[in-house]
Amino acid sequence: MTMPVSTRPHHKIALVCFGTEENYGLLFVGGELLQFDQEIRYFDAEKDAITDEIVAWMPDYIFFSPLTRYFPAAMNMLREIRQHIPGVISVFGGHHACSDPAIIDREEIDVVVVGPVRGSIEKILSGEKGLIRTPLTDPADMPVPARIEYYRDIPRIASRYRKFMLSMLGCPWNCAYCSSSADHLRDIYGKEAHRRYYLSRRPIPAIIAEAKQILALGKTEEIEWVDDDIFSGPDIETWLPEFVDTWEREIGVPMYVSSTSTLTLKVSDNVLATLKRIVNCIGIGIQAIRPESLKLLNRAWDNEENMKRAYDRLVTYGFAVNLQAIVGLPVEDPVEDALETVKGLQRIGPGSICSVYPLQIYPGTMMEKYCRDHNLALSALASGDTNTGIPGIAFSDDVTKKLRNLCKLATFFVKYHIDERWMRIFLTIDFPESTSQALSMERYYECVVDRLGTKGIELFNEIKRGMKLVY
Ligand code: SF4
Repeated sequence: MTMPVSTRPHHKIALVCFGTEENYGLLFVGGELLQFDQEIRYFDAEKDAITDEIVAWMPDYIFFSPLTRYFPAAMNMLREIRQHIPGVISVFGGHHACSDPAIIDREEIDVVVVGPVRGSIEKILSGEKGLIRTPLTDPADMPVPARIEYYRDIPRIASRYRKFMLSMLGCPWNCAYCSSSADHLRDIYGKEAHRRYYLSRRPIPAIIAEAKQILALGKTEEIEWVDDDIFSGPDIETWLPEFVDTWEREIGVPMYVSSTSTLTLKVSDNVLATLKRIVNCIGIGIQAIRPESLKLLNRAWDNEENMKRAYDRLVTYGFAVNLQAIVGLPVEDPVEDALETVKGLQRIGPGSICSVYPLQIYPGTMMEKYCRDHNLALSALASGDTNTGIPGIAFSDDVTKKLRNLCKLATFFVKYHIDERWMRIFLTIDFPESTSQALSMERYYECVVDRLGTKGIELFNEIKRGMKLVY
């Protein structure tokens, strides 16, 4: 590891955060910059006139780590800033940059980092430009996230009831639509480095220290574990009990985690019983029901029977379960496929909470290639944000409307056992935007209350006041 040097020149570095959620990647970037003695400031791109604030601060560098859906907005912002600070150096990293390093060809972008932040800052501060590839080391070798500065600069995040953390940076699966899929990352970094970095866990003391800092900095009622599969990793039977003991003793805040049917069925009774002490809800990726749709998503290893067994097993242990699915697939009859999926969710978890999202087409994924190979046009309306309900593929207006309605109403359909005949009618309704927003809000309410009970009702009222909902 290259150690930071405290004698480096001191620069002002702006880190721009897009979206309503905490930008986890930029927290680590900020932490690394602090180790290099740089002056950092986070800017909330959701705020009005934020570009003016950035310009007034006069940064030497401006760092972006936008998800694909925010990349165009980041470019617009950069162009505007450049008009006022022509010499500012722009740096892009994160998922989108790793999936599409060719963005370095854009004249506004000075540096693109492909790989973790560690190993890049020294080069950037010495004036290196272009594509910087950093090697994967090991997840213990990560900076402490700069939450003090993040919460100082973006207080709305500090007051959020739910915060994000993760223990494993990758996942073993290869979903066709995902830019974090194992094969995609192995192609970029190689098999061994992928296993060592993406499929190993961060040390428990580092995770606990991070959680303690979160609790010390603001009100937190729940921590969402953004690991894609809590049960992945060969050490789960030993790692998890040790982790749960420590978390229960030193943190105590309930967690929301995600998994798959396969690993939920594979782990021991002891793991599930132990996890229940700190987790109140588990999200299970169902994604689709038809075997051919699962195959299209590269999830042919899953099936409805296993999904049902996994759901029942979790419920037996007292977990709330959030079933997650994807609609708007490139099939002949996308609406029928979507209805099959929702009816499957009703069979798997009758009365359960579910979240149904439209498929988005991200750069560098197998799904993007599939669409290209099959001459499928992508929707100009899709921003990459699943919360809008708009599918990534350009279907007809009628199909788009039905799929969007289904995304907004699926939680209602599954939780309240709505019959298929009613579902079909609801899909045809033209909602005004105010109703669309109200539906998204209600879906959010159902999810929070399902996980946190009476406390969830109080929290939701607070959340509603400060929330900018994407719908
Ligand atoms: S499980 Fe999640 S992170 Fe892993 S490949 Fe599938 S969508 Fe991506």
